[in-house]
Amino acid sequence: MNNIRDLPMERLLEEIRTDVRETAYLTGRTTLDPRVVDAFSRVSRHAFVPDGMGASAYDNHPLPIGHGQTISQPYIVALMTDLICPRPEHVVLEVGTGSGYQAAVLSGLVHRVYSVEIIQALAEQARARLGRLGYGNVEVRVGNGHLGWPEHAPYDGILVTAAAEDVPAALLEQLRPGGYMAIPVGLSHFAQQLKLIHKHLDGSIEDHNVLPVVFVPLVDATTQ
Ligand code: SAH
Repeated sequence: MNNIRDLPMERLLEEIRTDVRETAYLTGRTTLDPRVVDAFSRVSRHAFVPDGMGASAYDNHPLPIGHGQTISQPYIVALMTDLICPRPEHVVLEVGTGSGYQAAVLSGLVHRVYSVEIIQALAEQARARLGRLGYGNVEVRVGNGHLGWPEHAPYDGILVTAAAEDVPAALLEQLRPGGYMAIPVGLSHFAQQLKLIHKHLDGSIEDHNVLPVVFVPLVDATTQ
């Protein structure tokens, strides 16, 4: 049975379905895994946007979260989650915790999520928020995501939510053979491609461009 609070989410899911269909010629996907859609629909995006932006929380757009950063567009969050083929036994690395929203969506699909954020204030806020909301299988730490999080590697999936100049070598190394990494790559805002990388069981790497995207840059702590 529907209630009033479900309506914005229903509308958002319909918009995502439309986006998925309209980009299928690029992504090769006409629908998303129903498990991904279900997990997505259980996360209240309004709990991850700044106070006063609740009215826009279920719009299919990125929103500012402070410190010059953004919570990604819901369609892109759903698509990237789908691309790494999450399974209940998986351990996943996210680079770029931001608000913690993407980590919360992953939380419902996999065994454990490790998420690295370079801005301390955002990491602390996301950690507190995820704890308060009961996402007990997500761990957040402050760090430079270019280096991954070696202590918990290898990862069954890696999701990078800021645009890198190139795929960081440490992340390729920390991806388990058989695993997928979704990562936006490109120098300029206008030339980024979301790439899907697959590490085959023999260790060889295959990658392809999924979609043109616009992400904030993955900064390198050593050059800040
Ligand atoms: N996934 C987030 C949105 C990410 S915005 C969400 O669901 O809300 C991109 C985030 O990547 C920003 O918070 C930014 O501070 C962070 N970031 C940028 N460079 C980084 C790096 N080298 N290591 C870790 N995080 C980084």
